[in-house]
Amino acid sequence: MSNTFKVLEVKCPICGIAKTINIPEAVFSQKKFGTIKIQVPINAVCPKHQFIVFVDTKGIVRGYEKIDLHIVTISPEAEREAEGRINLRNLIQTFGTYGIFSLIHAKIFNYPAYIIKDDFFEYSEEILNKVGDNILPESFRGSKTIYLLDEPDISKIKVKDKDALIMDTQQHIFQTPWKEKLKFEEQILKRALEIIDEQEQQKLLQQDISRFISEVNYVVSILETVDNIYEDDLIEQLSKALKIKKISTYRLNLIKEFIRRNISVKIVSKIKSRVGEFLSVI
Ligand SMILES: [Zn+2]
Repeated sequence: MSNTFKVLEVKCPICGIAKTINIPEAVFSQKKFGTIKIQVPINAVCPKHQFIVFVDTKGIVRGYEKIDLHIVTISPEAEREAEGRINLRNLIQTFGTYGIFSLIHAKIFNYPAYIIKDDFFEYSEEILNKVGDNILPESFRGSKTIYLLDEPDISKIKVKDKDALIMDTQQHIFQTPWKEKLKFEEQILKRALEIIDEQEQQKLLQQDISRFISEVNYVVSILETVDNIYEDDLIEQLSKALKIKKISTYRLNLIKEFIRRNISVKIVSKIKSRVGEFLSVI
């Protein structure tokens, strides 16, 4: 990456504090990725909030997204002890909160993740893939999905994969192959970070993801017995099975995404929406 910077004025989307930040010129000189996401950590602009800013290749701010996650501070002793080890906190420091949401999403939903690394990056591909695998139930582990790229010039990056997450180790996210907000990832990470013990953190993430996958399996078992099913009927059946009032459309969309990416595109096409049908009649 070149050493010239572009000055960008950004505003905290929550309280409106404005400040300028420096963005490497190279981030904008690439035309391949269009609008990119830049993570703005706490204290970079606002002392209280962290957020994402969407910037196009002309350097114009196109929008913001809040990140609602506070990281519990740990004692300096615990901090020193954890130094150099790979754990959630260190990973968040390297990739940013939103970067970690994205990596977790990519891992669960089986999207390849390409990370453009800088000279100071200390983890290997093997370690990253192992850590990623650790949050999944065993039956979904083992495939290599995280790749490190050595090319410092973003415009020379050759990733043809439209389905890939592409980011760097400096809080810039160039491509996310999904449209959903990363609410699930935010929620499970928040829960995990409330505890200090690293192993317990990992266990909690695993549990939350396993619970989600058991919902997926339940939906698949329903789909295997029918030719078609309406979304709202499926939501009703699933809610009953889970003994909750009503699962959200967001959750159902996540389940569909998981089936599509990890199990079968064909089986997910059995889920019909009444709205779609109504529109096709018109
Ligand atoms: Zn703020």
